[in-house]
Amino acid sequence: MKIVNAEERVHILDSQSNVWSVIREIAYTNNQEEAFYVCDIGDIVRKHKMWKARLPRVEPYYAVKCNDSLTVLEVLSTLGTGFDCASKAEINKVLSMNVRPDRIIFANPAKPASHIRHAASVGVSRMTFDNETELHKVKKLYPNAEMVIRIRSDAVDAQAQLGMKFGCNPITEAPELLRIARSLGINVIGVSFHVGSGCREPEAFQRAISAARDVFDYASTLGYQFHLLDLGGGYPGGHGTSIDKIAEIINSSLDEYFPDPSIEVIAEPGRFYVCSAYTLACNIHSIRNVIETDPETGNTTNAHTMYYINDGVYGSFNCILYDHQVIVPMPLKDYAGSKYQPSSIWGPTCDGLDQVVENVLLPDMKVGDWIVFEDMGAYTLPVASPFNGFPIPKVHIVAEENIWMLLQDLLPLSDDHFEMLKVPAKKMREESFSDFTLPHFPIRIEIPANDDALFEQYVID
Ligand SMILES: *Cc1c(COP(=O)(O)O)cnc(C)c1O
Repeated sequence: MKIVNAEERVHILDSQSNVWSVIREIAYTNNQEEAFYVCDIGDIVRKHKMWKARLPRVEPYYAVKCNDSLTVLEVLSTLGTGFDCASKAEINKVLSMNVRPDRIIFANPAKPASHIRHAASVGVSRMTFDNETELHKVKKLYPNAEMVIRIRSDAVDAQAQLGMKFGCNPITEAPELLRIARSLGINVIGVSFHVGSGCREPEAFQRAISAARDVFDYASTLGYQFHLLDLGGGYPGGHGTSIDKIAEIINSSLDEYFPDPSIEVIAEPGRFYVCSAYTLACNIHSIRNVIETDPETGNTTNAHTMYYINDGVYGSFNCILYDHQVIVPMPLKDYAGSKYQPSSIWGPTCDGLDQVVENVLLPDMKVGDWIVFEDMGAYTLPVASPFNGFPIPKVHIVAEENIWMLLQDLLPLSDDHFEMLKVPAKKMREESFSDFTLPHFPIRIEIPANDDALFEQYVID
């Protein structure tokens, strides 16, 4: 049995506990001061269930760059997803879980030669390209690779656009690239695209799938028989988001443009799987009141409160800069009756750029109080740096008991991955929030849990 790092152990929640009660438990014991995460494995399992229900024809290949936590990868591997890797190290990390190389797509259209050689040596044969140079490199370094042409087809509205960096024009560039590939004797097997991360225009998938159809048809005039369509990433994953509309458009577009069931359809969701699974708790270590004096009366008022917390844009909140994430602060304590005042939240470093929330109404909080941030699982931890000596928060992984029952015997997870929560916690969220709702709280749509019958349909296959 593999020995699992204590840090990577999954703590099993009793029926009285949930993510918020665990946060309280940790925040209010042992003089906890460091910022920390709680990661709920059940959330990832429920997302997978949702994917399978909404997009039955589309095999998910999780985009490792989004959150490369070993536990996340192990859970997804257990559930049977494939993986989208962008580098040699990501490929090795996935292979280290005994995932077969044919469950990996090397979806970086611009790969260093040594990484292509590595893919060849371990048998990861599916790779994307969008330029001629890549074709010449692949011919030399991995002539048996199965190549996937990445086309550009952008959503008009997305959290982070990718089209300016990757994807050839499907009309003006793809035909020429395919002719070159053909003359080099390279095996091209299909088309991929990425409409943009955090896609807010579901119709973008229809345009992209239609464009991919045209590339399939052109390729067949060259003698290629494409059989892989890769829908890339872009699916939202935060609380209150849904992939229903996107799934509807994808399903109807597949019916229209790719009715042939022998075409393998995959996607590379990143954010969708992990965004809502991670909740971050930060501690207020300093407060500065900005005082304004009325020039006529000489009276002073507290115009604005600045809260300084122990994680910032160089740590987890790099997602503000790189991923254009909108941050919603949720005070952990119940401040019923407190007056709300204009406030801002700042990270711990000495850089003026290190601002987490610019302007928000918050109750009157004190040093030592906690602010919680949901939806912190995507594009946060892998990018965070301990700049200025502020450590990256530790992650506490939890799972409900039914999730544990479901996963415990499925490789690569083992019983050694789990331990019972040491201190039983009380379910506190409903009680303390029922009579108190912050005006800026996001609308919550809960995914139903405890649906074991549904789990069984796909987990054990
Ligand atoms: C980052 C990335 C993804 C994941 O995108 P999400 O928007 O997080 O789903 C998928 N495919 C490729 C090639 C990527 O670079």
